[in-house]
Amino acid sequence: MNIKHALEEARLALEGSATGRLDSEVLLGHVLCVSRASLYANPETDVPADKSDQFRKLVERRQAGEPVAYLTGQREFWSLALKVTPSVLIPRPETELLVEAALARIPETAPWRVADLGTGSGAIAIAIATMRKHCEIHASEISTAALAVAMENAAAIVPGRIQFHQGSWLSPLQGSFQFIISNPPYVDLDDPHLQQGDVRFEPVTALSPGHDGLAAFRQITGESLLLLSSGAWLAFEHGSGQGDSVRKIMEEKGYCDVETLTDLAAEERVTLGRKKGSG
Ligand code: GLN
Repeated sequence: MNIKHALEEARLALEGSATGRLDSEVLLGHVLCVSRASLYANPETDVPADKSDQFRKLVERRQAGEPVAYLTGQREFWSLALKVTPSVLIPRPETELLVEAALARIPETAPWRVADLGTGSGAIAIAIATMRKHCEIHASEISTAALAVAMENAAAIVPGRIQFHQGSWLSPLQGSFQFIISNPPYVDLDDPHLQQGDVRFEPVTALSPGHDGLAAFRQITGESLLLLSSGAWLAFEHGSGQGDSVRKIMEEKGYCDVETLTDLAAEERVTLGRKKGSG
């Protein structure tokens, strides 16, 4: 069987999925260790039997709903190739907006201490580390399995730049910070979204804090007051319908300059504020 036939067979198997064609190409590229462009350039190239077996098994797993990123063990974020496993949330393009918001506020040469809470794959901390060489970056994560993935990613991309801490949100951190950032779980546990598509395979603790989707924002907003220096920033990603509530939580705790940014689809996705004071 050649590349063209293998792809045709997979596309048929994944016909019900809107991304079936792309998924087939990504999976075959992964099995053959070649780019998608090279698949197009060499449609007549033979696919060895062991590789086509491997490819068929991955297509079957995709057909059963497993996310492509878990099948290939990789997802691109901020143009960086990150390792992902079912122990971590798959980095989303919308989280790049959170990174952009942080970079717009962290001066290029500032030796700020930055903390990424619930780092998961390490995506946010690593992206910031690549862009702000003078910052001292810390990342916390409660799951030891996720922490191992984050540490592996950091060792490959920004060795020695990030200090990792196992524990919940701010509890394992010490000292004061000029920027605290987090993409915490924020989906209500009874939201039907959790029963659909790729998210069914992701760690529920990374997606949902329980029946109150705002619980993690409340906790982090309160705890952060203890570790933020005056005038320092707290920035969150949140669900598109949560802007009002997250602004209110921050304002009630006394944060100032609270504002919400919208994503490319004009949905409210990121809210930031500063601890009062002139520092
Ligand atoms: N944006 C993700 C989703 O809707 C949730 C990410 C999160 O909870 N931090 O699937």
